[in-house]
Amino acid sequence: MPQVWTRSRAGTASPPQVRQPVPALPFIHSIELPLDWAPGSTQVYLIEGQPLTLIDTGVATATSRAALTAALESLGLGLADIERVVVTHAHRDHFGLVEGLREAGADLECCVHEADANRVEDYDRVLRARIAEMTPLLVSFGVPEELARRLAQERLAAARLDVAEAVPTRVDRRLVEGDEIAWKDWRLTVLHTPGHTPGHIALEDASAGLLFAGDQVMAQAIPHAENFLVDGLPDPKDPLRRPPRFRGLVEMRRTLRRLRTRPVRLVLPGYGMALRRAERAIRDTSLHYEVRLQRIDRGLRRLAAMGQDVTAYELWKALFPSDEPMADMRAHLLLLIGALDCLEEDGLLVTERREDGVFTHHHR
Ligand SMILES: [Zn+2]
Repeated sequence: MPQVWTRSRAGTASPPQVRQPVPALPFIHSIELPLDWAPGSTQVYLIEGQPLTLIDTGVATATSRAALTAALESLGLGLADIERVVVTHAHRDHFGLVEGLREAGADLECCVHEADANRVEDYDRVLRARIAEMTPLLVSFGVPEELARRLAQERLAAARLDVAEAVPTRVDRRLVEGDEIAWKDWRLTVLHTPGHTPGHIALEDASAGLLFAGDQVMAQAIPHAENFLVDGLPDPKDPLRRPPRFRGLVEMRRTLRRLRTRPVRLVLPGYGMALRRAERAIRDTSLHYEVRLQRIDRGLRRLAAMGQDVTAYELWKALFPSDEPMADMRAHLLLLIGALDCLEEDGLLVTERREDGVFTHHHR
């Protein structure tokens, strides 16, 4: 999915680029594959060895498939030779072509974190179910029902593209934190890095200071964090009896804090070139969110100074242009919900429920 806040160079259709981004580990190849939408291309990684492994696949379009075929051919390989795919997370540009590899004859093992596995196997249904959950979520944060419906409908229309570029496929191995992805002479460790999606993973070679980061840390772009409802009954420990929800921005902050403690010297991201200033790249991603959180926190204080509790929707009206496109509005509302989650997590915010069921917030 187009998980990019900044940077846009859509429409570039350059030939596939195959590089060896780690001189000391020449069996790692990065392959740039085209996307029809910003940021224009994505990186997947081929690891030569036994088993021959791809980390992510790009989307299931004819152009991306042709680019991957050409890249593999330049290394004397074909689509049918792939023996394993490790998917960093269940977005179409990362797992979209796994089934296409299978159709091309690859007898491969597909590895996905257990929290994202059902989306890879049942993408269309899971995506639609999550969009359906968006309307009651937005209404509970103060968005007028009619507007919440239109925001969800617009997302549903855009979802046609998601579904067209990702073919669901069987997951053979459900990964968890600490699992090892092994080759004959090398191994990577699975780090569960939730935030961008619930089951996002990074893959680490700690001794080499190497991190395959998926969409968690990218060149010149910031991952967005999911803040949707998940299925389940209201949490009995929550006095407001809210349904359990994946709090993506809270998880994202935790993940970024954790990554800052890892011995990373080189990030191999899902977008853009290898990041040699790994520490700075991780810090910049953290900083981006901290600045946004501070801005939202200031907005909340300003509104509270006028004497009343506010809803996320009122906060949106105060902080963002009223005429922004629907997709931006939806993203900003979800960001605000994530920010309120973070402020609550930090003990700075009191959330209450009005008689009409809408949540209101004020500072402690
Ligand atoms: Zn993504």
